[in-house]
Amino acid sequence: MITKAYKGSISQKLTLAIFFITSITVLIGYTIAISLYIKAQKEDDIHLNSTIQSVIAQDLAKLIFLNNVTAAADITAKLKAFKGLNAVTVYNSKHKAIYEYSKNQEYKPFINSCNDNTLRTYKDSIELTSSIFYAGNKIGCSRINLHFDSIFSIIKKHLESMLVFYFFMLLLSLILAKYYAKRFTKPILYLADFLDSIEFTSSLNRRINIKYDDEFGKLYEETNMMLENIESSLISQKKAEEELKFLQQYDALTGFANKELFLKSLQIQIDKKKENIWHFMFCLNIKKFNQINELYGHTIGDILLQKLAQRIKQDFSNATIFAKIGVDEFIVCYRDVSKNRENAVGKAEKSIEILQTEVYNEFRINEKLINISLYIGINVYQDERNSSEDILRATDAALHMAKNEDKNLAFYNKEIENETLKRLEIATDLHQALKEHQFELYYQLQYKDDGSIYGAEALIRWNHPQKGLIPPVEFIEIAENSGVIVAVGDWIIKQGCKQLANWGKDDRTKEWVLAINVSSKQFDDYLVSKIKNAIVKNGINSTKLKVELTESLFLENFDENVQKLQELKDYGIQISIDDFGTGYSSLQYLKKLPTNQIKIDQSFVVGMLNDTKDIAIIKSIIELGDALELDVIAEGVETKEHFELLKSLHCRYFQGYYFAKPQPIEKIKLDNSLKMQLNL
Ligand code: C2E
Ligand code: CA
Ligand code: CA
Repeated sequence: MITKAYKGSISQKLTLAIFFITSITVLIGYTIAISLYIKAQKEDDIHLNSTIQSVIAQDLAKLIFLNNVTAAADITAKLKAFKGLNAVTVYNSKHKAIYEYSKNQEYKPFINSCNDNTLRTYKDSIELTSSIFYAGNKIGCSRINLHFDSIFSIIKKHLESMLVFYFFMLLLSLILAKYYAKRFTKPILYLADFLDSIEFTSSLNRRINIKYDDEFGKLYEETNMMLENIESSLISQKKAEEELKFLQQYDALTGFANKELFLKSLQIQIDKKKENIWHFMFCLNIKKFNQINELYGHTIGDILLQKLAQRIKQDFSNATIFAKIGVDEFIVCYRDVSKNRENAVGKAEKSIEILQTEVYNEFRINEKLINISLYIGINVYQDERNSSEDILRATDAALHMAKNEDKNLAFYNKEIENETLKRLEIATDLHQALKEHQFELYYQLQYKDDGSIYGAEALIRWNHPQKGLIPPVEFIEIAENSGVIVAVGDWIIKQGCKQLANWGKDDRTKEWVLAINVSSKQFDDYLVSKIKNAIVKNGINSTKLKVELTESLFLENFDENVQKLQELKDYGIQISIDDFGTGYSSLQYLKKLPTNQIKIDQSFVVGMLNDTKDIAIIKSIIELGDALELDVIAEGVETKEHFELLKSLHCRYFQGYYFAKPQPIEKIKLDNSLKMQLNL
């Protein structure tokens, strides 16, 4: 946007400069001309002086030597012929004026004598004195006054022409200034107008026409180059921004909307405010996707996700929104399904039927056949006052319910909501619990087959200030999922080691072994050193500490975790495999594990009296333990029958309500009085 105010400014400056330069030039020119004129005038006068002298020399000689009176008249006659001559006075050698001539009254004859060769300038005349020679001899001296133009008279004389010339020059310069100013400003204004037209990034592809081959041409060329650079950097910036925007909103692997975009899109649908309409959405999660990644590698894992995404898109092509909101979690959202809830539920069930077919869950990737199964959480809902986040949270809750109960699918309902809320509350309270010392370790004694105490298992309890005593099954898994298990686990390690130190001081208990449960989530890089530090700090015998682990520990990072266990075992710490037989026990794994003990899961013990299969399993676990030189302990021993049967199967260690319940430390009996009670 060029405003008028800018337009004349270069031309004005140029005009002013030219005006100034012209004036100075004219002034200097005149000064030089005048001084040259004066110099020439002086030289002319000197020349005239000697001419006059030579013209009158002969007559002067006559006048001086012969005193010839006519000679004076002759001189005067001759002198009259000289135009610029004002006055002449001649002196004889005795400095006496012998001849005087004056053009008019103004020039009075000079009275004083003359000195040789002087030159004096007056207002408008010049006076020269010089010796007069005749026949080589000085016969006197002359004093000649000649007309002389002074600076002022010259100026006065030429003022008019000077001014005319000056104004003429000025006019010429102004015309030139205007012309050149136009020549300069035109290309500049053209450039300015051109740049002015490039206001939006869309017009950045315009280029200025290079119509000058001077510096302006160069300027135009540079401008074009600059625009080119800006354009290309803007293009790449825009491309990067678009890519980023895409990545920020879409899953890079599958191109599905990510959680953020999904929530936004769903909210837009909700904001349309259609009342009494039922919608449904479901959330899919691949069971044990981690294991697939571990087994086949992440590249295959990625291809699997892509292929599953393709299948979802194909089979649910009439769905309103697709999204991938977690590593292996997909969302399919159907809107405006029915005005009737039952109808909507029916449609939801129908649509997910395909997901449960075996063919659907079969993938052939790089010649490998991979079978997956899915957890499905379904939510049939009305928008009401829900936000997209509420709806997603509810669907997620259904998915979690399916996972927790290891069912293929779960519909969202009120119980799930309550369960979700409960779990959420526990997760929040857990952080506070540690700070406020609400945890306590209970100890359940373990026995040998002769009825003597072998040691104990530490089992955590939570004394919630409002909810009372909370058993570990209600919070350990939540603590594991939220990560707070690491801090809770640290506390258990410290507390357990302190207790071992106390037992170490008493002859009755110094041989007891304390088992602490360690979650697989605690197996980070610091676990080993934390346990070692606790042992050193409490000055306990490391062989009296036992770490109880479940087989889930070996689902991920098998080699790394085995190495950590080996470090613990090398330090003297005992390792026990908890709930043996229920997990993913593979003899291949067991062979590689640095273990001291396996713990028969209580489910087998509970069932053994009614089910011979359980007896068979227990028997083989005990035999396996013998073969691998591992201790075998049975837990959940509730009755004398359990105990007797287990003993007959050569089980040597026992834990269960028959012997002792988990109790606070102050209630633990330190002696072997039980032996008597049980008639052992
Ligand atoms: P677990 O490690 O298998 O512990 C044995 C569970 O069986 C304990 O339940 C114990 O009270 C119970 N029990 C003992 N004898 C009998 C019996 O004769 N009959 C029956 N029916 N049950 C018996 P608890 O204390 O409720 O602990 C449950 C689970 O919570 C534990 O199972 C363990 O997985 C976990 N847990 C408990 N304390 C801790 C802990 O300090 N750290 C970690 N990470 N997990 C813990
Ligand atoms: Ca245990
Ligand atoms: Ca157990």
